[in-house]
Amino acid sequence: MALFETEALILRTYNLAEADKIVVCLSRSAGLIRGVAKGCRKLKNRFGASLEPFTLINLTYYEKEHQELVSFRQAEILKSRFNLSSNASILTGFSYIGDLLVDFSPPHQANDNLFRMALACFEAVSETPDDLDSVLRYFEVWLLKLEGFLPDLRSCANCQKTLSGEAAVYLGHDLAVRSFACSNGRGSAISKRLHTQLRAAEKLAPAKFAKEAREIPKDTKQEMAELMFQIIGRVLERMPRIRPASVQ
Ligand SMILES: [Zn+2]
Repeated sequence: MALFETEALILRTYNLAEADKIVVCLSRSAGLIRGVAKGCRKLKNRFGASLEPFTLINLTYYEKEHQELVSFRQAEILKSRFNLSSNASILTGFSYIGDLLVDFSPPHQANDNLFRMALACFEAVSETPDDLDSVLRYFEVWLLKLEGFLPDLRSCANCQKTLSGEAAVYLGHDLAVRSFACSNGRGSAISKRLHTQLRAAEKLAPAKFAKEAREIPKDTKQEMAELMFQIIGRVLERMPRIRPASVQ
Protein backbone atom coordinates (compact mmCIF):
# COMPACT_ATOMS: atom_id res chain seq x y z
CA MET A 1 0.00 0.00 0.00
CA ALA A 2 1.47 3.36 -1.01
CA LEU A 3 0.77 6.77 0.50
CA PHE A 4 0.36 9.82 -1.78
CA GLU A 5 -0.14 13.54 -1.23
CA THR A 6 -1.59 15.96 -3.79
CA GLU A 7 -3.76 19.02 -4.25
CA ALA A 8 -7.27 18.04 -5.34
CA LEU A 9 -10.58 19.61 -6.30
CA ILE A 10 -13.64 17.81 -4.95
CA LEU A 11 -16.12 17.24 -7.80
CA ARG A 12 -18.80 14.93 -6.41
CA THR A 13 -19.59 12.76 -3.42
CA TYR A 14 -21.90 9.78 -2.89
CA ASN A 15 -23.01 8.29 0.40
CA LEU A 16 -21.68 4.82 1.10
CA ALA A 17 -22.88 2.50 3.85
CA GLU A 18 -23.82 4.27 7.09
CA ALA A 19 -21.02 6.67 7.72
CA ASP A 20 -18.80 6.80 4.62
CA LYS A 21 -18.67 8.60 1.31
CA ILE A 22 -17.24 7.93 -2.11
CA VAL A 23 -15.48 11.09 -3.24
CA VAL A 24 -14.62 11.92 -6.86
CA CYS A 25 -11.92 14.53 -7.29
CA LEU A 26 -9.52 15.95 -9.83
CA SER A 27 -6.03 15.84 -8.39
CA ARG A 28 -2.98 17.67 -9.59
CA SER A 29 -0.58 14.74 -9.57
CA ALA A 30 -2.86 11.76 -10.32
CA GLY A 31 -5.71 13.22 -12.42
CA LEU A 32 -9.23 11.94 -11.71
CA ILE A 33 -9.42 9.77 -8.61
CA ARG A 34 -12.26 8.08 -6.76
CA GLY A 35 -11.78 7.32 -3.11
CA VAL A 36 -13.53 6.21 0.04
CA ALA A 37 -13.61 8.59 2.99
CA LYS A 38 -14.29 6.34 5.96
CA GLY A 39 -16.41 7.74 8.74
CA CYS A 40 -16.76 11.18 7.16
CA ARG A 41 -20.52 11.30 7.86
CA LYS A 42 -20.09 10.80 11.61
CA LEU A 43 -20.67 13.88 13.73
CA LYS A 44 -17.07 14.06 14.82
CA ASN A 45 -14.74 13.06 12.00
CA ARG A 46 -11.31 14.00 10.79
CA PHE A 47 -12.51 15.36 7.42
CA GLY A 48 -14.79 18.16 8.70
CA ALA A 49 -16.08 20.27 5.79
CA SER A 50 -13.13 19.44 3.53
CA LEU A 51 -15.09 17.06 1.28
CA GLU A 52 -17.79 19.54 0.25
CA PRO A 53 -18.01 19.74 -3.56
CA PHE A 54 -15.68 22.28 -5.26
CA THR A 55 -13.40 22.63 -2.23
CA LEU A 56 -9.69 22.71 -3.00
CA ILE A 57 -7.86 20.44 -0.58
CA ASN A 58 -4.50 19.03 0.20
CA LEU A 59 -5.24 15.30 0.11
CA THR A 60 -3.36 12.33 1.53
CA TYR A 61 -4.53 8.93 0.36
CA TYR A 62 -3.53 5.28 0.20
CA GLU A 63 -3.55 3.37 -3.02
CA LYS A 64 -3.49 -0.40 -3.34
CA GLU A 65 -2.15 -1.97 -6.48
CA HIS A 66 -4.81 -2.95 -9.04
CA GLN A 67 -7.53 -1.11 -7.15
CA GLU A 68 -9.38 1.75 -8.80
CA LEU A 69 -10.80 3.06 -5.52
CA VAL A 70 -8.26 4.76 -3.26
CA SER A 71 -8.59 5.34 0.47
CA PHE A 72 -8.66 8.89 1.83
CA ARG A 73 -6.52 9.39 4.90
CA GLN A 74 -6.56 13.12 5.45
CA ALA A 75 -7.84 16.28 3.77
CA GLU A 76 -6.92 19.83 4.60
CA ILE A 77 -8.91 22.74 3.15
CA LEU A 78 -6.89 25.10 0.96
CA LYS A 79 -9.90 26.96 -0.45
CA SER A 80 -13.55 26.52 0.45
CA ARG A 81 -16.32 27.58 -1.95
CA PHE A 82 -19.05 26.92 0.57
CA ASN A 83 -20.18 30.58 0.60
CA LEU A 84 -21.07 30.34 -3.11
CA SER A 85 -23.15 27.18 -2.94
CA SER A 86 -26.22 29.10 -1.78
CA ASN A 87 -26.38 30.68 -5.26
CA ALA A 88 -28.35 28.22 -7.41
CA SER A 89 -26.94 29.26 -10.79
CA ILE A 90 -23.34 29.10 -9.53
CA LEU A 91 -23.99 25.69 -8.01
CA THR A 92 -25.40 24.48 -11.35
CA GLY A 93 -22.46 26.01 -13.25
CA PHE A 94 -19.90 24.40 -10.93
CA SER A 95 -21.71 21.06 -11.19
CA TYR A 96 -21.60 21.36 -14.99
CA ILE A 97 -17.80 21.93 -14.84
CA GLY A 98 -17.48 19.00 -12.42
CA ASP A 99 -19.50 16.69 -14.69
CA LEU A 100 -17.43 17.56 -17.75
CA LEU A 101 -14.17 17.03 -15.84
CA VAL A 102 -15.42 13.56 -14.85
CA ASP A 103 -16.59 12.83 -18.42
CA PHE A 104 -13.38 13.95 -20.11
CA SER A 105 -10.66 12.87 -17.66
CA PRO A 106 -9.32 9.33 -17.83
CA PRO A 107 -8.80 8.02 -14.24
CA HIS A 108 -5.30 8.20 -12.74
CA GLN A 109 -3.77 10.30 -15.51
CA ALA A 110 -2.27 13.56 -14.37
CA ASN A 111 -2.96 16.60 -16.53
CA ASP A 112 -1.45 19.65 -14.86
CA ASN A 113 -2.76 22.08 -17.50
CA LEU A 114 -6.31 20.83 -17.05
CA PHE A 115 -6.03 21.03 -13.27
CA ARG A 116 -4.72 24.60 -13.38
CA MET A 117 -7.31 25.68 -15.95
CA ALA A 118 -10.21 24.25 -13.89
CA LEU A 119 -8.86 25.92 -10.77
CA ALA A 120 -8.53 29.28 -12.57
CA CYS A 121 -12.17 29.01 -13.73
CA PHE A 122 -13.47 28.29 -10.21
CA GLU A 123 -11.37 31.19 -8.99
CA ALA A 124 -12.68 33.60 -11.67
CA VAL A 125 -16.32 32.80 -10.78
CA SER A 126 -15.59 33.10 -7.05
CA GLU A 127 -14.17 36.56 -7.61
CA THR A 128 -16.80 37.79 -10.09
CA PRO A 129 -19.95 35.63 -9.88
CA ASP A 130 -21.66 37.76 -12.57
CA ASP A 131 -19.17 36.43 -15.14
CA LEU A 132 -20.32 32.82 -14.60
CA ASP A 133 -21.63 32.24 -18.16
CA SER A 134 -18.51 33.58 -19.86
CA VAL A 135 -16.27 31.51 -17.60
CA LEU A 136 -18.29 28.40 -18.48
CA ARG A 137 -17.74 29.12 -22.20
CA TYR A 138 -14.04 29.59 -21.53
CA PHE A 139 -13.92 26.30 -19.64
CA GLU A 140 -15.62 24.46 -22.53
CA VAL A 141 -13.18 25.85 -25.11
CA TRP A 142 -10.15 24.90 -23.01
CA LEU A 143 -11.46 21.51 -21.96
CA LEU A 144 -11.90 20.63 -25.64
CA LYS A 145 -8.52 22.12 -26.50
CA LEU A 146 -6.59 20.31 -23.75
CA GLU A 147 -8.27 17.00 -24.55
CA GLY A 148 -7.51 17.41 -28.25
CA PHE A 149 -11.07 17.96 -29.53
CA LEU A 150 -11.11 21.69 -30.29
CA PRO A 151 -11.12 22.22 -34.06
CA ASP A 152 -8.23 24.23 -35.49
CA LEU A 153 -9.73 27.71 -35.81
CA ARG A 154 -6.76 29.35 -37.51
CA SER A 155 -6.94 27.81 -40.96
CA CYS A 156 -9.34 25.91 -43.21
CA ALA A 157 -9.03 22.12 -42.73
CA ASN A 158 -9.27 21.72 -46.50
CA CYS A 159 -7.11 24.39 -48.16
CA GLN A 160 -5.16 25.68 -45.12
CA LYS A 161 -6.15 29.24 -45.95
CA THR A 162 -6.31 31.50 -42.89
CA LEU A 163 -9.88 31.86 -41.61
CA SER A 164 -9.60 35.27 -39.98
CA GLY A 165 -10.86 37.11 -43.08
CA GLU A 166 -13.94 34.90 -43.66
CA ALA A 167 -17.45 36.30 -43.14
CA ALA A 168 -18.36 32.95 -41.54
CA VAL A 169 -16.70 29.55 -41.19
CA TYR A 170 -18.33 26.11 -41.12
CA LEU A 171 -17.98 23.27 -38.63
CA GLY A 172 -18.39 19.89 -40.27
CA HIS A 173 -19.60 16.62 -38.73
CA ASP A 174 -15.95 15.57 -38.53
CA LEU A 175 -15.40 18.54 -36.14
CA ALA A 176 -13.16 20.27 -38.70
CA VAL A 177 -13.63 23.94 -39.59
CA ARG A 178 -13.62 25.03 -43.22
CA SER A 179 -14.05 28.18 -45.28
CA PHE A 180 -17.30 28.87 -47.13
CA ALA A 181 -15.73 27.87 -50.46
CA CYS A 182 -14.45 24.52 -49.15
CA SER A 183 -17.56 23.58 -47.17
CA ASN A 184 -20.12 24.88 -49.71
CA GLY A 185 -21.81 26.37 -46.65
CA ARG A 186 -22.52 22.89 -45.26
CA GLY A 187 -22.23 22.23 -41.52
CA SER A 188 -22.80 24.59 -38.60
CA ALA A 189 -22.05 28.20 -39.46
CA ILE A 190 -19.78 30.07 -37.04
CA SER A 191 -20.17 33.82 -37.41
CA LYS A 192 -17.13 36.06 -37.77
CA ARG A 193 -17.87 37.55 -34.38
CA LEU A 194 -17.98 34.15 -32.68
CA HIS A 195 -14.86 33.03 -34.52
CA THR A 196 -13.02 36.06 -33.09
CA GLN A 197 -14.42 35.27 -29.65
CA LEU A 198 -13.23 31.66 -29.78
CA ARG A 199 -9.76 32.79 -30.81
CA ALA A 200 -9.75 35.23 -27.86
CA ALA A 201 -10.62 32.39 -25.47
CA GLU A 202 -7.60 30.49 -26.75
CA LYS A 203 -5.30 33.39 -25.89
CA LEU A 204 -6.56 34.95 -22.65
CA ALA A 205 -6.79 33.94 -18.99
CA PRO A 206 -10.38 33.19 -17.86
CA ALA A 207 -10.92 36.36 -15.81
CA LYS A 208 -9.62 38.53 -18.68
CA PHE A 209 -11.73 36.68 -21.26
CA ALA A 210 -14.83 37.09 -19.08
CA LYS A 211 -14.13 40.78 -18.59
CA GLU A 212 -13.81 41.40 -22.33
CA ALA A 213 -16.88 39.25 -23.03
CA ARG A 214 -19.04 41.78 -21.15
CA GLU A 215 -18.97 43.90 -24.32
CA ILE A 216 -20.10 41.02 -26.58
CA PRO A 217 -23.70 41.09 -27.89
CA LYS A 218 -26.13 38.65 -26.32
CA ASP A 219 -26.75 36.73 -29.54
CA THR A 220 -23.02 36.00 -29.98
CA LYS A 221 -22.90 34.67 -26.42
CA GLN A 222 -25.94 32.54 -27.20
CA GLU A 223 -24.31 31.28 -30.41
CA MET A 224 -21.14 30.36 -28.49
CA ALA A 225 -23.10 28.46 -25.82
CA GLU A 226 -25.03 26.49 -28.47
CA LEU A 227 -21.89 25.67 -30.47
CA MET A 228 -19.85 24.51 -27.47
CA PHE A 229 -22.74 22.37 -26.23
CA GLN A 230 -23.09 20.84 -29.69
CA ILE A 231 -19.36 19.98 -29.97
CA ILE A 232 -19.28 18.52 -26.45
CA GLY A 233 -22.36 16.42 -27.25
CA ARG A 234 -20.69 15.10 -30.37
CA VAL A 235 -17.47 14.21 -28.57
CA LEU A 236 -19.33 12.46 -25.72
CA GLU A 237 -21.87 10.94 -28.14
CA ARG A 238 -24.59 12.07 -25.72
CA MET A 239 -25.74 15.36 -24.25
CA PRO A 240 -24.14 16.46 -20.93
CA ARG A 241 -26.35 15.74 -17.91
CA ILE A 242 -26.60 19.44 -17.09
CA ARG A 243 -27.65 21.93 -19.73
CA PRO A 244 -26.12 25.39 -19.15
CA ALA A 245 -28.72 28.11 -18.62
CA SER A 246 -27.74 29.87 -21.85
CA VAL A 247 -28.46 26.82 -24.06
CA GLN A 248 -32.06 26.48 -25.18
ZN1 LIG B 1 -10.57 25.96 -47.60
